[in-house]
Amino acid sequence: MNAVLPLPTLGCESAPVLRERGQREVFCGLTGIIWLHRKVQDAFFLVVGSRTCAHLLQSAAGVMVFAEPRFGTAIIEERDLAGMADCNEELDRVVDRLLARRPDIKLLFLVGSCPSEVIKLDLSRAASRLSVKHAGATKILNYSGSGIETTFTEGEDACLAALVADLPADTSETLSLMIVGALPDVVEDQFLRLFAQLGITSVHSLPARRANQMPPVGPNTRFLLAQPFLGETARALEDRGAQRLDALFPFGAEGTTNWLHAAASAFGIDEMHFRNTVAPGRERAKRAIDHVRAKLEGKRITFLPDSQLEVPLARFLCAELGMIPVEVGTPYLHRRHLAQELALLPSNTLISEGQDVDKQLDRVRAARPDITVCGLGLANPLESEGLTTKWAIELVFSPIHGFDQAGDLAELFARPLRRRDVLKV
Ligand code: SF4
Repeated sequence: MNAVLPLPTLGCESAPVLRERGQREVFCGLTGIIWLHRKVQDAFFLVVGSRTCAHLLQSAAGVMVFAEPRFGTAIIEERDLAGMADCNEELDRVVDRLLARRPDIKLLFLVGSCPSEVIKLDLSRAASRLSVKHAGATKILNYSGSGIETTFTEGEDACLAALVADLPADTSETLSLMIVGALPDVVEDQFLRLFAQLGITSVHSLPARRANQMPPVGPNTRFLLAQPFLGETARALEDRGAQRLDALFPFGAEGTTNWLHAAASAFGIDEMHFRNTVAPGRERAKRAIDHVRAKLEGKRITFLPDSQLEVPLARFLCAELGMIPVEVGTPYLHRRHLAQELALLPSNTLISEGQDVDKQLDRVRAARPDITVCGLGLANPLESEGLTTKWAIELVFSPIHGFDQAGDLAELFARPLRRRDVLKV
């Protein structure tokens, strides 16, 4: 184990950020389809891309368990790339065939990819054209998941931002709350129960589970981001008059309490009622975290830039489990949304934005943290050098938000250390 450093002073909110641009090792935004298609149950994601895109989706999704899949790829062939075919006509034919065979699809996303970007296929015009044709039966929207434009979790951001443009206007006089970010249903239900117990009655989720249940938005909408990677979605909501409630992200006992409290304050909930309502969940979370604390306390951790969850997770591990963040790398640093999180990180944490993978790996090798959180492609090489790693993608696919998942979230970081100990014996 590496030496435990004395606890440094808190506050990275105005610390200098190391900005790097170079080779980066992250998935493209198509990956978001893997969790988004499970969330919106009558939506379909049609990637307009190459066989590579289709392979990425199939291998990321694993075995398809649905009788009827909820995503597919319209393959752009070589003759399309060479400009020898009218891609728009072919796309229209594919969409017509799909919707004729699958009348259950109520919301169709045309998802752009690198090849569709390269041949400058205008998917927003295609979506408008096809929306008119299929009006009344299927809504058709578009966004880009291309690796040229997006990384990993930005696909969800682009998808939700496309949805915001299409949300109905909320003209009511009373405040309503919107939870923004695709959460697993079980986690979303836990939050909805807590808001109901608090006495906040008008609560919506974006995305909703069905196309016809997408929430209205307007000047009386207050929204809580459930994920730190939704910068474009937040901007689109603000453009429609909604106000973001500033809070920590709901990871761990403290993060979840703070997140719920931001809503309680905005809706004028009595402080004592708030404390009584959250106390059982908060205590459960603290007990679950305490079980794992001995394994993680004093351990040093580096995050390589991947999912944009890095800053809030580092805050959780540092504040609630006593871990020491060495470097916290993130593809993009949204300072305004992360201000409270950054303020809780030790001031000697290196915050880096973007990636130059070779330089970053040199820093990891020099610092030799106890755990490095990174993408799949970097994990094996680092393990072969004796460094313990955690796959960043697992943190996106696992339920980790809220009180009842706090112990599982801590456990996700303890597991690689246990595995390392077992292998050492
Ligand atoms: S969108 Fe681009 S990066 Fe993503 S799988 Fe397709 S070709 Fe690869």
